[in-house]
Amino acid sequence: MPKPQAKAPPLLIDAMLGTLARRLRWLGYDAEYRNDLPDEEMIAIANESGRVLVTRDRVLAGRRGLSSLFIVSQELEEQVQAVVDTLGLAHAPARCTACNGDLDPLTVQQAMPLVPPYVARTQTEFVQYRRCARVYWPGSHWPALQAWRQISQE
Ligand SMILES: [Zn+2]
Repeated sequence: MPKPQAKAPPLLIDAMLGTLARRLRWLGYDAEYRNDLPDEEMIAIANESGRVLVTRDRVLAGRRGLSSLFIVSQELEEQVQAVVDTLGLAHAPARCTACNGDLDPLTVQQAMPLVPPYVARTQTEFVQYRRCARVYWPGSHWPALQAWRQISQE
């Protein structure tokens, strides 16, 4: 089992843990989720991309030469706690909960064509996720960014 680090390693989340994957992204973890691959491919992806495989499959987690975290609990909050306790906090901005994309800040000028006119007139802070190009501003997704700021100032 990996030791806690200053910054959590990237993760590969196994089937049955999709809700956990989305929550971890919201908390800033780089959490790729695959539920359509055989064990051998999951192991290969985890090893090639340097990801810790997070799984509810005890046998898979115990495979030799694999960095893994076996999730015992079926409760989301306990699953999150297990990741935080074992791997440490992400210490990174929230990632897109839908696609695990990283984010970039946007200027008002950059955001203007991408958001409704009312939003462009009234908001000054925007971020865009690189992979799916979704744009967010203070409101819906923003609390996650606030949470990151608090974490990063600790
Ligand atoms: Zn996205």
